[in-house]
Amino acid sequence: MQKSYKNNIINDELEINSNKCRNILSEAKRCLNCATKPCSLKCPLDIDIPSFISAIKEQKFFDAYNRICEKSPFPAICSKICPQNKQCESGCVRKNKGSSVQISKLESFVASIYDNLGVKENNKPTKIISAKIKKVAVIGSGPAGLSCAYYLKKYGHAVSIFEKLAKVGGMLNYGIPESRLSKDILKNEIKKIQKMGVSIYTNVNVGSDVYLYDLIKIKGFDAIFLSLGTWKARRLDIYGEDSRNVVNFVDFLISYHKGKSVLDKKSINNIAVVGGGSVAIDVARLALTLKNVKNVYLIYRRSINEMLASENEITVAKSEGVKFQMLTNVKKIVTNSVGTISKILCSKNELTNKLDSSKRFSFKEIIKSDFEINVDAVITCVGSAASEFPVQDPYFKMIYDKNGKIQTNEKSQCTNVPEIFFGGDMILGPSTAAAAMAHGKKVAENINNYLNTT
Ligand code: SF4
Repeated sequence: MQKSYKNNIINDELEINSNKCRNILSEAKRCLNCATKPCSLKCPLDIDIPSFISAIKEQKFFDAYNRICEKSPFPAICSKICPQNKQCESGCVRKNKGSSVQISKLESFVASIYDNLGVKENNKPTKIISAKIKKVAVIGSGPAGLSCAYYLKKYGHAVSIFEKLAKVGGMLNYGIPESRLSKDILKNEIKKIQKMGVSIYTNVNVGSDVYLYDLIKIKGFDAIFLSLGTWKARRLDIYGEDSRNVVNFVDFLISYHKGKSVLDKKSINNIAVVGGGSVAIDVARLALTLKNVKNVYLIYRRSINEMLASENEITVAKSEGVKFQMLTNVKKIVTNSVGTISKILCSKNELTNKLDSSKRFSFKEIIKSDFEINVDAVITCVGSAASEFPVQDPYFKMIYDKNGKIQTNEKSQCTNVPEIFFGGDMILGPSTAAAAMAHGKKVAENINNYLNTT
C-alpha cells in the first residue's frame, strides 16, 4: 500500500513536468517487451530491461528503480557512463527499423526521480537474506568495490570500505570528467550506500597504514575483498615518450581533478591525445579547457568506426573543437635541444579486411605516408594495466601467479587465504563500470556463500 501511495506522490510531482513525463512515457511505449530480451543479453549487469520499462509504462517509477537495482547497484551512474550504443541499445530490435529504444534515457529518468524524491525506506536493505551476519572489509572504492559493498549490505552484513585516496569512487571520481558523470550523481550514489549502513574510510592504505592480518585478527573482519584498480597507464613505447610534457592519462586526470596540472600550462598551445576510447575523448575535452590551449588533436590508429567511444561522445567532442586525426600512427615525439616538445612524427594507416581479436578491423601502415603535427604536449591514453600489487602483508603469505598477480580460484575469487577474496580490474583488466559492478556483485555472492559456511 505504502509503495503505491509513494508512486502516487511521484505521479503528482510529474504532472508539474508533464512534458518531460510525456516524452519518457512515449519512449517507454516504443518498447515491444520482447520475450527473448535481446537488450538484456547485451547488458553486462543483466538488468531486466523490458521489465523496468513496463513499470515505467504503468508510471510505477519506484518499481522501475527497484527492478533495475535487482541487478545494478547504481542506475544513475550507469545511465550516464555506460556505452549503451554498444551494449543494451545495440541489442534492441527497434534498431532494425529505425532507432533503438533510448534505454539510457529511461534509466536516467528513473534514477533522477529516485534521487530527487527518494524514499528513506528504499535506502535500507530490502531484506536480510544471509543466514549469518558477519563483518566484511572491502579494500578499494571503485565500481567493483562499491557494488560488492552494496550487495553484501543487502545480504545484511556489516560492511566497511577502505580507500587509499582522499575521495571515494576510484576512476569514477578521478578518471571521468564532470561533463560525463557529475560529482553530485556520484556523491548521491555513495550517500545511498552510506545510508544503507556501509562505513567508508578514506586515506587508509591497506598494506602500510593497516595490515590485512590486523583487519582479520584484531579488527575482527570475517572476510576481505581486495578490489584493486588498474592505475598503471600503458606506454606507447616510442622515442621521446619520457620527455617533459608527455604524460599519461592517469597522471593527467588525477592532477586535473585535484585542480593541479602535470603539464607546463604557460607554454602549451597544442596538445596531442593518443587513444580511441571514452577516456581518450574525456581527456581531449578536458585538455581543450586548459588555459592557452588552442588545438587538441585526438590521434587514433584505426578509423572512427572502430573507436570504443560512443557516437554521442564523438559528436560532443567534435562540436567542442577536438580535432580528430584518424588512421594515424604516432611514431616519434620530437624535442628540441633543451628537451621541449616541438612536434610528433606520424604515419597514416589503412584498415585491412581482417578482424583482430577485438573483433575490429585490423590496420597496417601505409608506406611513405609520414607527416608531422606541431604540438607542445602529448597525453597518452592507450589503456591501463594492473600496477604492482600494493598490499603487502608480512603475516599472510599470499600465493602469486607467474604474472605477479595474487592467485585466485576462478569461480569463487577466493585466494589461498580463505578469508581473502581478490578481484576488481586487476582480475578483469580495464573494463566498463557496468562490467566491474557485475563482477563486484558476483564476488559479494561468493563472500556471502563463504560466510554462511564458517
Ligand atoms: Fe524493448 Fe528493445 Fe528490449 Fe525489445 S529489445 S524489450 S524493444 S528495449
